[in-house]
Amino acid sequence: MAGFRRFRSKYFSGDDGLYNRLSSSGQTPKTLIIGCSDSRVDPALISSSSPGEIFVVRNVANLVPPFESANGFHGVSAAIEFAVVNLKVENIVILGHRQCGGIRALVSGGTQMEKTSFVGHWMEIARTAKERVLKRSAGLDFEAQCKECEMEAIITSLENLKTFPFVLDAIGTRDLKLFGIYFDLEQGQLFEFDPAISGFKQLEIDKAGDKLL
Ligand SMILES: [Zn+2]
Repeated sequence: MAGFRRFRSKYFSGDDGLYNRLSSSGQTPKTLIIGCSDSRVDPALISSSSPGEIFVVRNVANLVPPFESANGFHGVSAAIEFAVVNLKVENIVILGHRQCGGIRALVSGGTQMEKTSFVGHWMEIARTAKERVLKRSAGLDFEAQCKECEMEAIITSLENLKTFPFVLDAIGTRDLKLFGIYFDLEQGQLFEFDPAISGFKQLEIDKAGDKLL
């Protein structure tokens, strides 16, 4: 309650309170961020966003499943559809991070990865990412393999985004942009996927006018 009181006094006080505008005109976020459920990687906090600025989906390991037409409870796909088709966001950001527990479970192959576990079944989305990493980085230690896989899974999710017909359509007709961003929470740094090098480049966050969002 103390936290909500602070939030309320910041956003609801006075005639120009932000929520006066957001409640009367609705939301018009320009960016969809798909982030991890990890308590340390809140997209709104990391991007210093105000209410109404970003549309957010969070799940274990910030994964995008491939487009599937079979019936099911496709929560992530539904949120992507709403953001792209209804809100007409201009950007989609996959926000991965260092020390991801979902990726750690995937790489270690522990009991969480049993198919009967929700996490185990969900992480199947990133299985090809793990296989790519183990193939090219077999000599690396476990932590380094996890870090590689955290980044590789972002690339898998970017590929999966393009299996959704409405995403492809928005890219072609109104220049919807896709970004893969990696948050190194040990160093406090951001990296961006660069398709030209099929890898991640560190963003120069101290420069004025940096390109992110
Ligand atoms: Zn995570």
